[in-house]
Amino acid sequence: MSATVDLKRMVREQLLGGGIRSRKVLGAFLRVDRALFVPPEARRRAYHDGPLSIGLGQTISQPLMVAEMVEALGLRRGQKLLEVGAGSGYVLALAAAMGATVYGIERIEELAASIPARFDLIGIPRPSLRIGDGSLGWPDASPFDRIIVSAACPEPPPALIEQLSDGGVLVVPAGGRHLQRLYRIQKRGGTTITAVSTPCVFVPLIGKNGFAED
Ligand code: SAM
Repeated sequence: MSATVDLKRMVREQLLGGGIRSRKVLGAFLRVDRALFVPPEARRRAYHDGPLSIGLGQTISQPLMVAEMVEALGLRRGQKLLEVGAGSGYVLALAAAMGATVYGIERIEELAASIPARFDLIGIPRPSLRIGDGSLGWPDASPFDRIIVSAACPEPPPALIEQLSDGGVLVVPAGGRHLQRLYRIQKRGGTTITAVSTPCVFVPLIGKNGFAED
């Protein structure tokens, strides 16, 4: 399916205009239509430059924020990626469109239930999905080349760093409940290299290595 005029405008104005340079990332955003990942009542605002409600108190993140996180992953075809906080499946679909084998964990079953059909509509291989506390990772399926956390943690969860392959990269918003910074952590020969960048605001990761439920 070719990208609509509105989707192309989103990519050009928000992502290219916002400094995203990776052709692979920009191409994935053109292939994976954000409109498929928002509820019908939000579809007319699907290309809005901000987060949108996906129901049950959760959100699909701002396109530029997602693009910055995916670009920071440095994802390559054939790599194995885990997303913690899969929500609507949008980030997982972008990673699958870039040729990754994708695994997702989501706490709310009702949200995860709609993900496989969305992948079918786009024509990309379905993800492996698990319902539960993703702050503990997915030990049985580890190691992962890339891990992305799409909800806020008090600190980068040690269990996720543990489950990275050598050379693997974790991208995670960490800090306070209401304001975080984006961490990029690369594992190399038993040590980690950490870079901290953009301030950001995510819904909390609720779980053992996350925040307590309100
Ligand atoms: N990446 C998603 C997308 O593209 O639609 C949006 C993610 S939304 C900002 C954060 C998600 O994290 C919510 O769907 C929420 O239910 C989920 N979540 C919160 N705590 C979690 C946990 N411990 N394990 C797994 N998912 C969790």
